[in-house]
Amino acid sequence: MKPYYASPTEVQRFKAQRIEFSFRYQCSDCVHQRLSDRTCSLGYPNRALLEADGFLETEGQFVFCKYFEVL
Ligand code: SF4
Repeated sequence: MKPYYASPTEVQRFKAQRIEFSFRYQCSDCVHQRLSDRTCSLGYPNRALLEADGFLETEGQFVFCKYFEVL
């Protein structure tokens, strides 16, 4: 899949809507996160989702997990 780089406008819109709609998308809200060590029970490398304050990789790409299941 081709990485998508968010524009500053898209970033600001996402941050506003994340608050407005209480959007959950990070490992900390996912049933697959192991509470003991915060790793993913499905074996995915979840550092980016755990450490990201927002929704972007450091390179500016969207970061979401398609296996996310809300608690
Ligand atoms: S399934 Fe995805 S969102 Fe859930 S803990 Fe694993 S990496 Fe995180």
